[in-house]
Amino acid sequence: MLVKNQDFFSTEHLVVLDEAVKTSEELVTEYFDLSSRNWLRHPYEICTLRDASEKEHPGDALAHLVRYAKNFEDKMRGTDSPVLYKIILNDQKILNHFLVRDGISIYSMLVYVISHELVHIVRFGSFRVHPETAERELEESHVHDLTNDILSNVPIKEMTVVLDYFKQRP
Ligand SMILES: [Zn+2]
Repeated sequence: MLVKNQDFFSTEHLVVLDEAVKTSEELVTEYFDLSSRNWLRHPYEICTLRDASEKEHPGDALAHLVRYAKNFEDKMRGTDSPVLYKIILNDQKILNHFLVRDGISIYSMLVYVISHELVHIVRFGSFRVHPETAERELEESHVHDLTNDILSNVPIKEMTVVLDYFKQRP
Protein backbone atom coordinates (compact mmCIF):
# COMPACT_ATOMS: atom_id res chain seq x y z
CA MET A 1 0.00 0.00 0.00
CA LEU A 2 1.26 3.42 -0.88
CA VAL A 3 1.67 5.63 2.17
CA LYS A 4 0.33 9.07 1.49
CA ASN A 5 2.82 11.85 2.04
CA GLN A 6 1.76 14.24 4.77
CA ASP A 7 2.38 17.85 3.93
CA PHE A 8 1.52 19.82 7.04
CA PHE A 9 1.48 19.30 10.77
CA SER A 10 -1.94 18.32 12.09
CA THR A 11 -3.51 19.90 15.16
CA GLU A 12 -2.07 17.05 17.26
CA HIS A 13 1.38 17.64 15.81
CA LEU A 14 1.12 21.32 16.76
CA VAL A 15 0.45 20.36 20.38
CA VAL A 16 3.59 18.20 20.30
CA LEU A 17 5.45 21.06 18.65
CA ASP A 18 4.50 23.36 21.51
CA GLU A 19 5.94 20.92 24.03
CA ALA A 20 9.07 20.45 21.95
CA VAL A 21 9.67 24.21 21.78
CA LYS A 22 9.35 24.51 25.58
CA THR A 23 11.71 21.62 26.19
CA SER A 24 14.28 22.85 23.67
CA GLU A 25 14.28 26.37 25.06
CA GLU A 26 14.71 25.03 28.60
CA LEU A 27 17.60 22.77 27.61
CA VAL A 28 19.43 25.45 25.64
CA THR A 29 18.80 28.09 28.34
CA GLU A 30 20.23 25.81 30.99
CA TYR A 31 23.22 24.73 28.91
CA PHE A 32 24.35 28.27 28.14
CA ASP A 33 23.30 29.56 31.54
CA LEU A 34 20.96 32.16 30.04
CA SER A 35 18.04 33.98 31.58
CA SER A 36 14.62 34.63 30.09
CA ARG A 37 15.89 38.14 29.36
CA ASN A 38 18.25 36.71 26.78
CA TRP A 39 15.30 35.45 24.77
CA LEU A 40 13.52 38.78 25.10
CA ARG A 41 16.56 40.44 23.66
CA HIS A 42 16.79 37.89 20.89
CA PRO A 43 13.18 37.07 20.15
CA TYR A 44 12.31 34.25 17.85
CA GLU A 45 9.19 32.83 16.27
CA ILE A 46 8.47 29.30 15.23
CA CYS A 47 6.81 28.98 11.84
CA THR A 48 5.49 25.96 10.06
CA LEU A 49 5.16 25.77 6.29
CA ARG A 50 1.62 27.13 6.51
CA ASP A 51 2.93 30.43 7.88
CA ALA A 52 6.09 30.60 5.85
CA SER A 53 6.28 32.74 2.77
CA GLU A 54 7.72 31.32 -0.42
CA LYS A 55 10.97 33.14 0.27
CA GLU A 56 11.19 31.59 3.73
CA HIS A 57 10.77 28.01 2.55
CA PRO A 58 13.55 25.84 3.96
CA GLY A 59 13.98 23.89 0.72
CA ASP A 60 15.29 20.43 1.45
CA ALA A 61 16.32 21.15 5.02
CA LEU A 62 14.29 20.01 8.04
CA ALA A 63 14.32 23.60 9.23
CA HIS A 64 16.23 26.79 8.84
CA LEU A 65 16.70 30.10 10.51
CA VAL A 66 15.73 33.43 9.01
CA ARG A 67 16.96 36.63 10.58
CA TYR A 68 15.11 39.89 10.14
CA ALA A 69 16.55 43.23 11.02
CA LYS A 70 13.84 45.50 12.37
CA ASN A 71 13.40 48.92 10.83
CA PHE A 72 14.71 51.67 12.99
CA GLU A 73 11.22 53.27 13.19
CA ASP A 74 9.75 50.00 14.47
CA LYS A 75 12.05 49.98 17.44
CA MET A 76 10.17 51.24 20.47
CA ARG A 77 13.13 51.96 22.66
CA GLY A 78 16.88 51.87 22.37
CA THR A 79 17.01 48.58 24.24
CA ASP A 80 14.58 46.83 21.92
CA SER A 81 15.98 43.98 19.96
CA PRO A 82 17.06 45.06 16.49
CA VAL A 83 16.45 41.57 15.11
CA LEU A 84 13.78 38.94 14.97
CA TYR A 85 14.59 35.32 14.26
CA LYS A 86 12.19 32.96 12.59
CA ILE A 87 12.70 29.23 12.82
CA ILE A 88 10.95 27.82 9.79
CA LEU A 89 10.09 24.17 10.17
CA ASN A 90 9.68 21.99 7.13
CA ASP A 91 6.57 20.01 8.14
CA GLN A 92 6.76 17.82 5.09
CA LYS A 93 10.41 16.85 5.51
CA ILE A 94 9.99 16.15 9.21
CA LEU A 95 6.78 14.13 8.84
CA ASN A 96 8.20 12.05 6.02
CA HIS A 97 11.68 11.67 7.45
CA PHE A 98 13.03 8.16 7.40
CA LEU A 99 13.34 8.12 11.23
CA VAL A 100 9.74 9.20 11.75
CA ARG A 101 8.53 6.64 9.24
CA ASP A 102 10.58 4.14 11.17
CA GLY A 103 8.65 4.92 14.34
CA ILE A 104 10.78 7.59 16.01
CA SER A 105 8.52 10.16 17.68
CA ILE A 106 7.93 13.55 16.11
CA TYR A 107 8.64 14.97 19.56
CA SER A 108 12.26 13.82 19.71
CA MET A 109 12.83 14.92 16.11
CA LEU A 110 11.40 18.35 16.85
CA VAL A 111 13.46 18.79 20.02
CA TYR A 112 16.56 17.93 18.00
CA VAL A 113 15.75 20.30 15.14
CA ILE A 114 14.60 23.22 17.32
CA SER A 115 17.50 22.94 19.76
CA HIS A 116 19.90 23.16 16.81
CA GLU A 117 18.28 26.38 15.57
CA LEU A 118 18.21 27.87 19.08
CA VAL A 119 21.94 27.23 19.41
CA HIS A 120 22.42 29.26 16.22
CA ILE A 121 20.42 32.12 17.76
CA VAL A 122 22.42 32.03 20.99
CA ARG A 123 25.69 32.16 19.06
CA PHE A 124 24.54 35.03 16.85
CA GLY A 125 22.96 36.84 19.77
CA SER A 126 25.96 36.66 22.01
CA PHE A 127 28.24 37.84 19.22
CA ARG A 128 30.17 34.60 19.33
CA VAL A 129 29.65 34.64 15.59
CA HIS A 130 28.27 37.11 13.15
CA PRO A 131 25.52 35.84 10.86
CA GLU A 132 26.96 37.47 7.75
CA THR A 133 30.61 36.73 8.20
CA ALA A 134 30.53 33.38 9.95
CA GLU A 135 31.95 30.62 7.89
CA ARG A 136 28.91 28.57 7.23
CA GLU A 137 30.27 25.07 7.30
CA LEU A 138 32.46 25.66 10.29
CA GLU A 139 29.59 27.26 12.16
CA GLU A 140 27.29 24.36 11.26
CA SER A 141 29.75 21.87 12.67
CA HIS A 142 30.09 23.89 15.92
CA VAL A 143 26.32 24.06 16.28
CA HIS A 144 26.04 20.39 15.45
CA ASP A 145 28.53 19.44 18.19
CA LEU A 146 26.92 21.73 20.76
CA THR A 147 23.46 20.36 20.02
CA ASN A 148 24.81 16.85 20.47
CA ASP A 149 26.31 17.82 23.78
CA ILE A 150 23.09 19.46 24.98
CA LEU A 151 20.93 16.49 24.06
CA SER A 152 23.26 13.61 24.83
CA ASN A 153 22.02 13.05 28.36
CA VAL A 154 18.42 14.17 28.26
CA PRO A 155 15.81 11.65 29.33
CA ILE A 156 13.91 11.81 26.06
CA LYS A 157 12.92 8.48 24.64
CA GLU A 158 14.68 7.71 21.35
CA MET A 159 16.91 10.78 21.49
CA THR A 160 20.00 8.60 21.25
CA VAL A 161 18.67 7.11 18.02
CA VAL A 162 18.13 10.60 16.60
CA LEU A 163 21.59 11.76 17.72
CA ASP A 164 23.25 8.67 16.30
CA TYR A 165 21.51 9.14 13.01
CA PHE A 166 22.54 12.78 12.62
CA LYS A 167 26.04 12.17 13.91
CA GLN A 168 27.01 10.95 10.47
CA ARG A 169 24.86 13.48 8.67
CA PRO A 170 25.39 16.96 10.03
ZN1 LIG B 1 22.31 24.80 11.34
